[in-house]
Amino acid sequence: MYKRLLIAGFLIILALSLSAKPRIVILATGGTIAGSASGAAQASYQPGVLSIQQIIASVPDIEQLAELKGIQVCNISSQNMEERIWLELFKTIDNLFTHDLCDGVVITHGTDTMEETAYFLNLTVRHTKPIVITGAMRPATSLSADGPFNLFNAVALASSPEAQNRGVMVVMNDYILSADDVTKTNTVNPNAFSCPNYGPLGIMRDGLPIFFRESPFRHTASSEFNITNIVSLPKTEIIYSYAFASDVAINAIVDSGADGIVVAGVGHGNYNRAISKGLEKAYARGIMVVRSSRIASGGVDQAAEEYDTRWPVSYNKNPQKARILLMLALTKTKDSKEIQRIFKEY
Ligand code: ASP
Repeated sequence: MYKRLLIAGFLIILALSLSAKPRIVILATGGTIAGSASGAAQASYQPGVLSIQQIIASVPDIEQLAELKGIQVCNISSQNMEERIWLELFKTIDNLFTHDLCDGVVITHGTDTMEETAYFLNLTVRHTKPIVITGAMRPATSLSADGPFNLFNAVALASSPEAQNRGVMVVMNDYILSADDVTKTNTVNPNAFSCPNYGPLGIMRDGLPIFFRESPFRHTASSEFNITNIVSLPKTEIIYSYAFASDVAINAIVDSGADGIVVAGVGHGNYNRAISKGLEKAYARGIMVVRSSRIASGGVDQAAEEYDTRWPVSYNKNPQKARILLMLALTKTKDSKEIQRIFKEY
């Protein structure tokens, strides 16, 4: 009798745990997915208007995927993203996962700097549970708004056991894109994101992920960056390279007290003499320099034209991602060889 009861109890617990929906927390930050326009076909609109509760309510069947909890972190356009919000997102997610308060996190975000927030969290949240970022190119009030399906796919992905330990992922237009490579490649089209070096991680189909590949880089649980006690990040800037660029911008950056500079070079990370002189000055003052490229794919390595090999190259990281990796590298070291090692691994 006792044995039978024990087996029955075990089976009930098993059934409950099998039928229990994953617990997903949605951290909302604003953007076009929360945007509103006065007409359904209007191109101009105001981002960051709708609350996360309103957004969730607009997605049919989403509650069937997971037990959802929405938290409004802020409601901004992502061009106004702040360091303070990045640190808050990091702390919130770290806390949720450390105390097993949820099984996965979805972040709704403006698309303009989505790749930057994704890469920052990819380097700092040292957990294996899924973190998925999504947004929209069309406001919520638009004809065929893309936000609801993107959010549905993001929650479905964050709920999937297959999404564990894959690094932070962006889900847009059915694609699953890795934080280390994803970038915005179209200013207006709903198919605005791609991974120009490695291709998408996978696609969402019928609410399930189909993965094609894994990230070849260190991320999340295998990251060496511990920012738990950090209240402000090193200051890193980007200098853009172009035909007959002057030294005005580079000098201003060097004099601003920056800790690091990423140069968005032309071609294979090249820059002219004016910028070169400014970078020399920066390096002599102890400001770390990283050579990257304004070109979308191919990356930058040391086998270059006549450039200074004292400072590291960004490999496949575009300038905006290189700036974030440099920022985090500088929390650990000022040694250029060590920073080059970091750029190779992340
Ligand atoms: N400017 C908006 C933002 O990044 C664009 C968008 O969300 O699509 O917040």
